[in-house]
Amino acid sequence: MQKIILIGKPNVGKSSLFNKIIKKRLAITSDIAGTTRDTNQAQCEILNKKALLIDSGGLDESNEFFKTVQANTLKRAGSADIILYLVDGKKLPDDEDKAFFYKLKKLKKPMALVINKVDNKKDEERAWEFANFGLKEVFNISVSHNTGFDELYEWLASLLYEPFLRADEEENLEDFLEHFEQNQEGEFEFKNIDENHIKVSIVGRVNVGKSSLLNALVKSERSVVSEVAGTTIDPVNESLEYKGKIIEFVDTAGIRKRGKIQGLEKFALNRTEKLLEQAQIALLVLDLNEGFNELDERIAGLISKHYLGVIIVLNKIDISEYDFDKVVKELKLDRFKFLAFAPIISISAKSGKRVANLLDKILEVFENFTQKIPTSKLNDLVQNATKTHPLPHDKGKLVKIYYAVQYDLAPPKIALVMNRPKALHFSYKRYLQNQIRKNFKLDGVPLILASRKKGEKYEA
Ligand code: GDP
Repeated sequence: MQKIILIGKPNVGKSSLFNKIIKKRLAITSDIAGTTRDTNQAQCEILNKKALLIDSGGLDESNEFFKTVQANTLKRAGSADIILYLVDGKKLPDDEDKAFFYKLKKLKKPMALVINKVDNKKDEERAWEFANFGLKEVFNISVSHNTGFDELYEWLASLLYEPFLRADEEENLEDFLEHFEQNQEGEFEFKNIDENHIKVSIVGRVNVGKSSLLNALVKSERSVVSEVAGTTIDPVNESLEYKGKIIEFVDTAGIRKRGKIQGLEKFALNRTEKLLEQAQIALLVLDLNEGFNELDERIAGLISKHYLGVIIVLNKIDISEYDFDKVVKELKLDRFKFLAFAPIISISAKSGKRVANLLDKILEVFENFTQKIPTSKLNDLVQNATKTHPLPHDKGKLVKIYYAVQYDLAPPKIALVMNRPKALHFSYKRYLQNQIRKNFKLDGVPLILASRKKGEKYEA
């Protein structure tokens, strides 16, 4: 996990900022070998990205300021990924701060000057005095007034890795333009999908029961198909026919050759990634009996990255004692927040219990994944949503969504064509996403919302 280090003199508001970012009152303290005092550090989440926030604390020992303490802080900053240098905006820049700031600059790490206590216009003006620190990344904040955080968080998030949250995010501009270029009248050519043929990958750690699940699925249907006219099924893949559709499980040979990849986590993840590239729907198999760990999270992160339909399969109900609601909460609110849209099904691959439910769920998620949402319905929804909660103005200017239109499927991709697309705040986007999810069947599928400028389609 990437480390963000907070550096600053006493009384600049370091611990309040620390607590604000980690969203807790009390900082979790831990001893780090080689330091003379406790260092506060805690995991935090910034716009859904995780990081470790470290309060350097170092500069607080003012009696021996700028000697050993400084050296220690410098060392710690050297092992961090992002540096936040906090100063007090009620005061004028301080030479000691500046000197130390230059030393930190030499580390050539992403660094921001964060000016705290900027509570009003006057403070804002004074903050310009800090311009001579010579850094582009300067953020005026007020921890006590809770202002200035959007920009700071956005900057931090832009530097943090994206292991998990990609589903439900905006896709890149090039991809969008490509779709628009296909037909300038706004009629989109959707991805070509064979709606009778579903490609599924079964992924999960070793021993969670992937191969048992495959057996159970294949056994549950008598008509296992190897070849069906008009479809191309890879011979290494196993398939079955269910309610008139072909469900093809990709790279089943690999799943059957289990055991070989044990212990080689990186290889396992690479292989998982290959499976996901070929699939439309991923079954994320988890072992209810053993509980969940970081590897599960990383595999889930890969699914999210590929924008696939997802079903979370909790296996081994026959030998597990569990409270379903509690498990769901753990998964949706904590571990796999980024897959919160995924339905969760508990089964026993061994006894075959509820495996048929899973097949129905696959059909349902596939239908959701490939659906075309009528433009009129979409626009009614957006209109109502913006009436209920008007779009916030952007620097005094009106922000408008002219219309919404789906421009691709599998997964559904929707463009919001606007006058000021950059002014669409992520929390408003999230609100629209939730509204769309509420009104259309999107269980198990990521939803891509792209805010775009009117006429952007004709540029490129
Ligand atoms: P894979 O590595 O994910 O393919 O896991 P396997 O399918 O080989 O299963 C690992 C072990 O878990 C085997 O010993 C299975 O018999 C066992 N197993 C799989 N599913 C279940 C289940 O639903 N209940 C129980 N009790 N054991 C299971």
